Amino acid sequence: MSYQITIEKTKNPKQKPDEHNLGFGIHFTDHMFTMDYTEGKGWHDPKIIPYSPLSLDPSCMVFHYGQAIFEGLKAYKSVNGDILLFRPRKNMERVNISNERLCIPPIDVDFAVEAIKTIVRVDQDWIPKSEGTSLYIRPFIISTDPYLGVRPSNTYKFLIILSPVGAYYKEGINPVKIYVENKYVRTVKGGIGYAKTPGNYAASLKAQMEAKEKGYTQVLWLDGIERKYVEEVGTMNVFFKINGEVITPSLEGTILAGITRDSTIELLKSMGVKVTERRISIEEIYEAHEKGTLEEAFGTGTAAVISPIGELNWNGKIIQINDGKIGEISSKVYDTITGIQSGKIEDPFGWIVK
Ligand code: PMP
Repeated sequence: MSYQITIEKTKNPKQKPDEHNLGFGIHFTDHMFTMDYTEGKGWHDPKIIPYSPLSLDPSCMVFHYGQAIFEGLKAYKSVNGDILLFRPRKNMERVNISNERLCIPPIDVDFAVEAIKTIVRVDQDWIPKSEGTSLYIRPFIISTDPYLGVRPSNTYKFLIILSPVGAYYKEGINPVKIYVENKYVRTVKGGIGYAKTPGNYAASLKAQMEAKEKGYTQVLWLDGIERKYVEEVGTMNVFFKINGEVITPSLEGTILAGITRDSTIELLKSMGVKVTERRISIEEIYEAHEKGTLEEAFGTGTAAVISPIGELNWNGKIIQINDGKIGEISSKVYDTITGIQSGKIEDPFGWIVK
């Protein structure tokens, strides 16, 4: 493939949104990256062009069978004006894990990181500077064969779009109420749970909607066979602190291997905290609460970094965690990771890419 990215700049730059009222995923920058895949030719024609609608045949396979993957990461502007990416290689490696499961041909990881750097550089004036804001980066791949038979596509499009996003927590981190989902499941072993693919999110909407109607922010997913073991919380990985030990579900094919999860584990271990990756049942969590040893619970993910869990409702049994307040470990992980991401704290882990 050609590694030369051609750049066509927009002739009509858009007006930038108010930095203090960005929301999430609402505004898009002036440009986008695209690259095509054709069977026999491989990935080709990487280019940056003005942000614009796509023209696709209505029979394109992605519309019918959902053969697609996506990613999410952020760019930050540091106080001294540097543009910082957080572990972008990890996201591009995860593209290939998802691709493999969805029968999409692999991408070149180093080139994909270069593509991210190039598009972010082109639209760098769109990176917001206020506290907590960032430029969300959304790479994704869609299958484009105009064909209605069920098989892997022979053509694909890889795109990267960018969206300036606001501070996730405007009024400080608030622990959220979580409904333990015992009817719907997100995925099962052998399914596509470990891949970042649209089907998983489509499958999750109904549970999320019903939990909202009951007054809960998100659901805690249990395993798809026994509804016994804890898997993820909404679209985040989940951690529990029980009697000084931090426990997170092990990756056994149903859980997305979050990059914030991996960073949290590494950070906690460097702080001397005992971290264990293993199966943990909802019953064990309730028993720990009963004994008074359930100290903290929180989700981890790119969007919010840390989201503390203040309350769980499992079959009508409601428990408060840490009196509904943010815990010590949750605060420490949040402050350290967001500090490293924004360049305020020195990065001892080699996570930051300028
Ligand atoms: N699980 C799911 C299902 C997710 O969508 C995400 C967000 N990408 C995560 C976990 C957290 O992953 P990360 O830390 O890489 O954002």
